[in-house]
Parts: sequence; C-alpha cells; structure tokens
Amino acid sequence: MIKNLLIPGLLLALSGQVQAETSPHWTYEGKAGPAHWAELNPDFVVCHSGKFQSPIDIRSAVSANLPALDLNFHTAAETLVNNGHTIQITVDDDEDFLLDGERFKLVQYHFHTPSENLIAGKQYPLEAHFVHINGQGELAVVAVMFVIGAENIALNSILPSIPSTVNKVVNIGQRIDLTDLFPAKRHYYRFSGSLTTPPCTEGLRWLIMKQPVTLSAMQLTIFQKALKQSNNRPVQPLHGRQIVE
Ligand SMILES: [Zn+2]
Repeated sequence: MIKNLLIPGLLLALSGQVQAETSPHWTYEGKAGPAHWAELNPDFVVCHSGKFQSPIDIRSAVSANLPALDLNFHTAAETLVNNGHTIQITVDDDEDFLLDGERFKLVQYHFHTPSENLIAGKQYPLEAHFVHINGQGELAVVAVMFVIGAENIALNSILPSIPSTVNKVVNIGQRIDLTDLFPAKRHYYRFSGSLTTPPCTEGLRWLIMKQPVTLSAMQLTIFQKALKQSNNRPVQPLHGRQIVE
C-alpha cells in the first residue's frame, strides 16, 4: 500500500519535466500557493490532511546516538534542469548507502532558497535535498544547509550550467564531487516526513545534516536570479512526531 502511495510522488520527485507537463499548475505564492495545494487536485489532498508533512522546524530532538552518515558518491550522467520550481540535477549513482539495513541510491538533488526546514527556528539562505530511493521505491532525503561564507567549489560546476529557459535539460558534462556539498561532520537529525511539493506524499525518511556548508553571497544571488522567487514551503505541524539525533 505504501509502495502504491509513493508512485505518483516518486514520478514527480524524479522528473521535473513530468511534473511541469502533467500536473496541475502550483506555485509558491498566491492562489495556487502552499495554502491551496490540496484544493488544486484530488491527488494533493494529503498536503492538507497529512500528519507527517515536511518541512518542519527541528526542535527538541531525542538522542538516539545515530551514527554519522557513511555516504559515498560515484555519480555519472549528470543533467541539470530549471523546472520552474527548483534547480535539479539528475544523477546515475553506482554507489549506495545503507539506511536501516536497506540500500538507497542517489537519483537527483535540488535546491531551495531560503531553506525549507528550520533548525531551532533558524532559516538558512539555501538548502540542498539529495533524493535517494531503495529497491521498494521508498525515498530518503538527505538535506544540507548552507550559510554565507567561502565560495563553494562544487557549486561552481553547477551554477554556470543553469539554463535561462525553463525545462531545458542540459548536460553538465563533468563529474561533480558531491563530497564538497557535504559538511565534514556527518551527524544529522532524523524524522518521518513528506515531499515538500505536491502531491506531498508521505513515508519519506528525512535526514538533515546538523553542520552547514558555505556558499558565497554571489553564488546565492545566481540561485535566486535563476529561480526568480523563493521556493520554500512553509513549515508544517509536527503532530507529535519525534525527531531523533
Ligand atoms: Zn526539495
């Protein structure tokens, strides 16, 4: 059942183009904005009725001595698209990481500005979402927060490739070392959540890295200009969910 529920969300999460062409128009503000997503399509009702919605404000985490994440990336076939909702890079990762004893592979990563999740009420200027999938079609998202500081070397491989035309898919043509997009310390918060875009499908495992990485003010400006607007869904109620660390 969970698997069936995940399929529409998965398709949307994995392909910005499918999303733009077949899904009703939704936006980040106004009449088709987050407060109205559930009204736009019967498939979106969980955006309003769900009890495990993302993003959230991460407060009072319970200590579970979670081990540091052991992530290894060897990605290829990278394409980039500005789908009108986010800047998304699709990858073909031949290395997986183990979570709950299951193998998850990275399929795409994308960016939100400002951040969607908050940590103790703090919003960050940028948040990256690394979307992983296991053999059952279940998703795990690893999120990384950015603060303004030193230039981010890995972003220099991405930013010049962002096309000005929405939904135009471009080949990046080089391997990006994703290690540079991750903090040195791999400790994280974990909770159960949803896609942060319609259809807001639940059952996703969320892992938010505690330590932020940096990008320069100029790099942030390039993201903001490409997206033309903020692309963060407001934080959602916890409904008694536990956050562990
Ligand atoms: Zn996202």
